[in-house]
Amino acid sequence: KTFEELRLSDDLLQGIRSMNFRKPSKIQEKALPLLLMDPPTNMIAQSQSGTGKTAAFSLNCLSRVDISQVKPQALVLAPSRELARQILGVITHMGQFMQGLKTMAAIPDPSRRGQKFEAHILVGTPGTVTDMLRRRLIDHTGIKILVLDEADNMLDQQGLGEQCTRVKTMLPKDCQTVLFSATFPSNVISYANRFAPKANVLTL
Ligand code: AMP
Repeated sequence: KTFEELRLSDDLLQGIRSMNFRKPSKIQEKALPLLLMDPPTNMIAQSQSGTGKTAAFSLNCLSRVDISQVKPQALVLAPSRELARQILGVITHMGQFMQGLKTMAAIPDPSRRGQKFEAHILVGTPGTVTDMLRRRLIDHTGIKILVLDEADNMLDQQGLGEQCTRVKTMLPKDCQTVLFSATFPSNVISYANRFAPKANVLTL
């Protein structure tokens, strides 16, 4: 398969070329057709770092964004700020040819004070995002995709899983929920099934 066959927009194909990706990785080839289906379906995917999972969920977010509406539409949660920044870098790079696209890290910044996060795609950590949703610095009303990256790592850390659940309860009910995890011990399986009901399940 090629990226062209995945029916991505020309802007995104150009972004993919700028990253020097020749063809989709295995996880991208399997996940993208399922992620891009209409109506949107939840996904639980097993994928280690290094398999191309970031681009897989990022391309779904970028494909589904309505550029004319500058409000958060996709929210990506990661276990650390470091990883959140890396993901944001990938999304911003791949989306660089989408005119008007705005992406932001949902990371506290004293210089921003009470300003709202006016961007199409936000990436952050669960605790900070919960706080920003509560304070209405993130408008939840247009969010149609929620991605959890490294779900197993989040569930390992004190309270991060609970905060992800709290974020989800604040989002529209029909939000497409996408969960990636490198491993699936029983606690992750039961969490994933509650978090992303009726999901397509993918293992590499
Ligand atoms: P990830 O699994 O998201 O951490 O990605 C691992 C690495 O693979 C990153 O350096 C990506 O830039 C690279 N990568 C992702 N997708 C592709 C692809 N389709 N072709 C070549 N490299 C890729």
